[in-house]
Amino acid sequence: MKKKWFYLESYVYSKNSNNTLLIYNTLSKKSIKFNNPNILKFYMELIKQQGIIEIQDNELEQEDIKEFVQKIRNTFCGDLIVIDSNQTKPLSLRNHPIIMKDFRKKVKENSLDFSKNVLEYLYEISIHINSECDVSNCDICNYAIKQVDYCFKHEGNTQLDFSNVEYILDSVDNLPNFRKIKILGGNIFKYDKINSVIAKSKGLKTNVEFYINLHQLDFSQLEKFNSKNITVKVLVQGGSSYDYLIKNIAAFNKQNCNLSFNILIDNESQIDVLNKFEHLLSHLNYNVIPIYSGNNKLFFEKNVYLTEDDILELKPELKTIHTNQILNSNFFGKLFITPNGNVYENLNGNCIGQINSSNLAEIVYYNILNGKYWFKKRSSSHDCKNCNYSDICPPISNYEEFFEKNNLCHIK
Ligand code: SF4
Repeated sequence: MKKKWFYLESYVYSKNSNNTLLIYNTLSKKSIKFNNPNILKFYMELIKQQGIIEIQDNELEQEDIKEFVQKIRNTFCGDLIVIDSNQTKPLSLRNHPIIMKDFRKKVKENSLDFSKNVLEYLYEISIHINSECDVSNCDICNYAIKQVDYCFKHEGNTQLDFSNVEYILDSVDNLPNFRKIKILGGNIFKYDKINSVIAKSKGLKTNVEFYINLHQLDFSQLEKFNSKNITVKVLVQGGSSYDYLIKNIAAFNKQNCNLSFNILIDNESQIDVLNKFEHLLSHLNYNVIPIYSGNNKLFFEKNVYLTEDDILELKPELKTIHTNQILNSNFFGKLFITPNGNVYENLNGNCIGQINSSNLAEIVYYNILNGKYWFKKRSSSHDCKNCNYSDICPPISNYEEFFEKNNLCHIK
């Protein structure tokens, strides 16, 4: 006597939500959807039995189930196997993202001594060294800083003590997974020890980015940043800045340092201007970054909101989906330090420490246990938890934090 077993492959992601079942093959990157109630019922039983279920011949003769099994087999998302009835149920190899969950649990239970290795989870630090800025009639930073890397006039005229900057640079330079240091202001040229920060950065192995508003850029200063590991990120926003940028493209091209331009846009006419000068801009290394000003929702809906095709076009790997089920890879491992020494896991959130009184390992340890943003998942968010794409969609970003709305998409 033989038995038939039907199973889903270990590389297949599936989610049943709102009466629709999504099956996504992480190898072929193809997806299929089902909404037939009999198929959904069969799938729920399949999942209850760990992704492998005994299937009877009479079930396979039912049109709905037959169609489901055929589609799954034809797309290499699963298969039927036949084995002797005296053999035990075959083992299902469905993947589960347990590693980090387990890790957090062990830390909470104090059963893991990881104090030595905690800094492996630190990937990026943004250091706002000062708050002074002399650009008048500019209030962009009030909302830009909450969404993207941008300069900011912090309250009061404070500066981060250079000893703190030195301590941070020294601490992160040899960390195994550390990627980048970002130095921002105010106007960083108003920082007393800016030359020391630049000199110190040149001696590091880590990549360092210095953020300078185009209005504060002094061409004569750019030579100082000439080092393989340093990039000057020039922040460009608004119509008059575009004119200035375009007029000076030749001058920028003559610079020896690594230059990159973050061009912020908040309306359609700015896209037209950039398109018009594309042939000139193509000589520069630049990124166009949308920014929500509070009154350009339509612009965002048209240019930033995701469609179903956009999401599937990202073709996420199984590893990425599992990461999305555990943490937020947009936020995880990043810290922000403001000129008064306050430390944040996200500038939209609350202060989590003080660099004068805690060391980086203590702060990272604290945030692994208590972090809100580092572990902010779509599948736990009110707007996305019932969506089939909650684990596939890109992680929640600061745009969504600023909007206070997690589903910036056209999916209903
Ligand atoms: S943003 Fe949220 S609701 Fe929209 S597709 Fe992604 S997971 Fe679904």
